Amino acid sequence: MSTSTTDAVYPRPVLGQMPPYAAGKPPAVIEGLTAYKLSSNENPFGPVPAVVDVIRRYAESGQTCRYPETTCSALRGRIGETFGVEPDDVVAGAGSLGALMQIISTFAGAGEDGQKDEVIFAWRSFEAYPIVVRAAGAQDVQVPLTADHRHDLKAMTAAITDRTRVILLCTPNNPTGPSLSTAEVEGFLATVPPHIMVVIDEAYIEFNRASDAVDGVDVYRRYPNVVVLRTFSKAHGLANLRVGYSISRPEITQYLRVMATPFAVSSLAEQAAMASLDHLDEVQERVQRVVDERERVVASLRELGFEVPQSEGNFFWLPLGERTPELVDTAGSQALSVRGFGTEGARVSVGEVEANDRLLRMMSEFGVR
Ligand SMILES: *Cc1c(COP(=O)(O)O)cnc(C)c1O
Repeated sequence: MSTSTTDAVYPRPVLGQMPPYAAGKPPAVIEGLTAYKLSSNENPFGPVPAVVDVIRRYAESGQTCRYPETTCSALRGRIGETFGVEPDDVVAGAGSLGALMQIISTFAGAGEDGQKDEVIFAWRSFEAYPIVVRAAGAQDVQVPLTADHRHDLKAMTAAITDRTRVILLCTPNNPTGPSLSTAEVEGFLATVPPHIMVVIDEAYIEFNRASDAVDGVDVYRRYPNVVVLRTFSKAHGLANLRVGYSISRPEITQYLRVMATPFAVSSLAEQAAMASLDHLDEVQERVQRVVDERERVVASLRELGFEVPQSEGNFFWLPLGERTPELVDTAGSQALSVRGFGTEGARVSVGEVEANDRLLRMMSEFGVR
C-alpha cells in the first residue's frame, strides 16, 4: 500500500517485531508487612548522603530552566581521572541503555543492500538488548546460555557471519549472575574479526568478586574494537536520574558523538554522578553490604537444596522452570516482588536484610521438589 492512499498513520514494520519490556513490578501491599521490591536490581541503600545534598542544592540553584552542557564534559573528566582513561574516550548517555542505543544505532541497522545487520548476544540476558537492536532495524542473533547459565562463547563465535556488526557481552550476566573471566574474553576476542565491535556491558562490575573477572577498561586499552558500558544506576543508586556511559577509542567515539541525543543527560544527573565518584569509598561500603548479603542468601538457598548459579551482581537467579510462576505468586503473597521469566526462572534482587530474611523463610517453605 502506498503512503498516499492510507487513511491513518502507521508505524515502521519493525514495530511488529518488538518484544515488550516487562519492567520489574512493585510489590503487592499486604497489611502488616513492609513491602520490598526485589524485581529491578535497584540499590536498596540509595545514593550516598553527599549526593542527596547535591540534588537538593540543585533544586535551589535556579538552573533547572537551563539546558545542560551537551557533552557532559565535567563528568567525563571525572570519569577519566577515576579510571585513568582519556575523557574523550567517554561518551555519556541517558543511562547505559542510552549509551547502548547510541552504539547500536551507529553501527548496526539495515545494510546498504537493504539486508539487516546482525547483532549477537547471549540469551537469556538483559531484556533491553533485543528491543534496542530491533528498533535500530538490525537483526538480533540470540545464542543460548550453557547449562550452567553462562555465555556460550564458542557458540557465539560460531554465530558470526558476514552480516555481524556488533557482539554484546554482559558480565556479570543479567539475569543469571555469572561473570566472564579475562581469559575467556581474550580467548573470545581472538576469534572475532577486527571490524566487528564487541560491547562489554559492565552494569554490575562493582558487585563482582570473582578473582578472575574481566575488567573491560583494561581490555579496551588493548583492543580497538572493544566498547565498555558502565552506569550510575546500580552501585551508585541513581537509577532514576538516568546516567551511564561508554568507554572506547576516538575511532569509535567520533561516530557515537554524532548519533548521541543532544542534552540526554541532565546537569542534575551529571552533578549527582560526579559527587558519587567523589565519595567512592562510601559507595563501595554500600556495595560491600549488598555483596555480603548476596553471599549469605545464596549460601542459605544452596543449603536448602536450591540450584543458584554463580552470582556476581546485586541479584541471583533461581532456575525453577515450571515452578517459576508459583514462586512469583508466593513472593507476592509475602509483599515481595521478584522478576519471573516465564517458565525459565526468577531473578531476585538482593535487598534490605529484612527483605532477604523474609525471602529465605519463604523459600524454606516453598522447598525443593
Ligand atoms: C540495569 C542494566 C543496565 C543499565 O541500566 P541504565 O539504568 O540504563 O544504566 C545495562 N545493562 C544491564 C545488563 C543492566 O542490567
